[in-house]
Amino acid sequence: MDVAFLGTGSGYPSPCRSASCMAIRHEGEVWLIDCGEGSQTQIMKTKLIRPGRITKIFITHLHGDHLFGLPGLLCTISMAYKSSNEEAMEVEKEDIDPTDTIVEIYGPCGLRRFLRESLNLSRSILSFKYVVHELVPENKQYNHIKGGDPDWSKWSPDHMATGSLHINECKHGRAIFYDISCEGWFIFKDEKITILAGQLCHRIPAFGYVFFEPPKPGRLESEKLQKAGVPKGPLYGKIKRGESVTLADGTVINPRDYIGPEQPGRKVAILQDTRDSWSTLSICQNCDVMIHEATNENSHYKQCYDNGHSTPAMAAEFATAANASTLVLTHFSQRYKDPHLHEEIDDTDLTVDKLVEEAGEGFLGNVIAAYDGLILPVTRKVR
Ligand SMILES: [Zn+2]
Ligand SMILES: [Zn+2]
Repeated sequence: MDVAFLGTGSGYPSPCRSASCMAIRHEGEVWLIDCGEGSQTQIMKTKLIRPGRITKIFITHLHGDHLFGLPGLLCTISMAYKSSNEEAMEVEKEDIDPTDTIVEIYGPCGLRRFLRESLNLSRSILSFKYVVHELVPENKQYNHIKGGDPDWSKWSPDHMATGSLHINECKHGRAIFYDISCEGWFIFKDEKITILAGQLCHRIPAFGYVFFEPPKPGRLESEKLQKAGVPKGPLYGKIKRGESVTLADGTVINPRDYIGPEQPGRKVAILQDTRDSWSTLSICQNCDVMIHEATNENSHYKQCYDNGHSTPAMAAEFATAANASTLVLTHFSQRYKDPHLHEEIDDTDLTVDKLVEEAGEGFLGNVIAAYDGLILPVTRKVR
């Protein structure tokens, strides 16, 4: 599992930082989180993300710096599938069979309509199908944030499901509501991964996404079994499955004594635009990597908070409470330069190092500033 940071800037794309976009690569699949303007160029630049492998796209909220790249990206992927010379996005033939591919897109209410309208009005036909599953926000904790939408009742599936179905859109998109049993919005689960969402406090409905693997069963300690006189063969399989075994001499082999400790699965939380992440605390607990926005430095707290954003201290406090191992800051105001991206930095320039330093004052784990092109491996905790 790794996370590729494709756009780490806030507000708009600049030559050094593209608007928000990330990709998680997991077990041969690629999932995109946010797709700001310019994301497709970033994907082409990395060479590590194969667009034909993108099976799920998660949009945190409908602000343009997280969304405006999506229709364009879908069209370019589509073109690439069709083109014989594959020049558009280097889609590899084995990646995909467009005829039975459905790209699943998740995001707040309104996303379905946005895609419908943009694809219908631009007469865009895709070479694959897509479906939009909409997350229905809870209104309770949101009052008035400057520049926000005062009428939260509009953010409902009924209001948003206007416009005619796009020719490539599957009509079975779900409306996903808060589910108390998982303390969040249940997105997806299979044997390899569970994906949940939690609501963040921003100027419009916004969601954070949490990806976590199930624990890996402990290793069978075969040397120990041999010493105990267990003959190699089918008995090993039984013990590994947790069954007790009685040997010919009457010795009972208890699997608990011969199976190593369970390996915890990896967990990544992605919390973009937010001035308050606390309602997602339980689903973020014990994450290996917490990716949290930190738009401006601590001294800009008031401006940051009023605009629905976080400072490094806010990100650090939340990461500490969630017992995260690594905190990755992102969504930086374009005013912060980065030694990885800018060739010339002088003493008067503000840099992301300041933001990392400020987060480090409140968070004892590892703090990293994301930059466009960073690929962060997520390793399993070893017990
Ligand atoms: Zn943003
Ligand atoms: Zn925003």
